[in-house]
Amino acid sequence: MLRLTELKMPLEHSPEELRAAVLKRLELPETDLLQLQIFRRGVDARKPDDLKWIYTLDVRVRQEQQHLRRLKKDRRVSQTPDMRYRFVAQTAEVRSERPVVIGMGPAGMMAGLILAQAGFRPLILERGKIVRERTKDTFALWRKGILTPESNVQFGEGGAGTFSDGKLYSRIQDPKHYGRKVLEEFVKAGAPEEILYVSKPHIGTFRLVSMVESMRAAIEALGGTYRFQSKVADILVDAGANGSRRVRGVALENGETIAEGAARETWEEAEANVRDLQLYTVYNIPYISQVYMLHRAELVEGRFGVGVESLECRLFSEDEIPWDELAFPSVKKTLRHYFEDRRSGHFPLHVEDIRPRS
Ligand SMILES: Cc1cc2nc3c(=O)[nH]c(=O)nc-3n(C[C@H](O)[C@H](O)[C@H](O)COP(=O)(O)OP(=O)(O)OC[C@H]3O[C@@H](n4cnc5c(N)ncnc54)[C@H](O)[C@@H]3O)c2cc1C
Repeated sequence: MLRLTELKMPLEHSPEELRAAVLKRLELPETDLLQLQIFRRGVDARKPDDLKWIYTLDVRVRQEQQHLRRLKKDRRVSQTPDMRYRFVAQTAEVRSERPVVIGMGPAGMMAGLILAQAGFRPLILERGKIVRERTKDTFALWRKGILTPESNVQFGEGGAGTFSDGKLYSRIQDPKHYGRKVLEEFVKAGAPEEILYVSKPHIGTFRLVSMVESMRAAIEALGGTYRFQSKVADILVDAGANGSRRVRGVALENGETIAEGAARETWEEAEANVRDLQLYTVYNIPYISQVYMLHRAELVEGRFGVGVESLECRLFSEDEIPWDELAFPSVKKTLRHYFEDRRSGHFPLHVEDIRPRS
């Protein structure tokens, strides 16, 4: 493609007039102009009584190299730079290890989308609520003075600025055209197409909410998952022997009881609804600074499936359990207690410590 800069046009003009101006400037025959795309459009306001649009255009032409050679002395004509976004990594595998994105503001949203497009199925944790719910809470503050501390202008899906008119310009240099990728994703999500080329783009008041929803749907369609009202309270880091550090996980403040957390985990791991949860075993594992609490519960209607955090799910009878393959000692010990207690029909609470094997 050829990039043509500084093409001035009157404020009122038709697409045909723009096309004619391009043909004239490039001295092209009509049949050689295959496609015309606006890259940037600003206003030339140097003469206030004679305002003009000033265009930068990308033009697909027949025999491009020939025309470029012919126009090589015209500094306003060059080859269009390659603006395609290139992923730093890509995977086709369904991996059980998933990247975690904290916060669903503009930064988290783009990180989540790029990771999902690259095949990594991100898990996005957001302390506030889903954007429609957040909108209600924000208006409750503005109109009635009722503040919801975790769901407001600042916190919730979409991040700060969700209730603005979405101005998109900045003064940053962008030699690798990353901004273009962001704008293209915004257009796919419902932003007006002109944000791709006007010099001071903005999305428009109240469009942002449906755009945020649309971007969430795109991430989910690619295997990403969300958890709202999940405030990250800590990032858990393991220190290695040689001074290296490795993030092991995050600690959440979910505002839920132990039983509610266990029921949620059961759904996420095994798409199983459970009821009548009874705390059954507690394991202190001081050498990894963790406490495990396992419950007995009733599986509602015997239904289960592969959840967002699992690759395979099955039910086992006692004699089918692959004891040597169980990864966690806490699970093995809990099952041993369960089968023993089931014989007596009495299920006391078991509290034990697990120490490293010497
Ligand atoms: C009223 C207003 C109008 C604005 N208008 C514009 C504008 O028109 N144009 C423009 O370019 N900029 C505008 N801004 C600024 C813009 O919104 C910010 O620059 C942008 O939101 C920053 O994005 P971010 O993702 O880095 O952070 P944020 O948008 O702050 O997003 C962070 C997200 O992380 C969540 N979070 C925070 N802590 C945790 C935690 N511990 N656990 C889980 N989740 C957490 C928050 O709930 C939030 O959703 C405006 C800001 C405001 C407040």
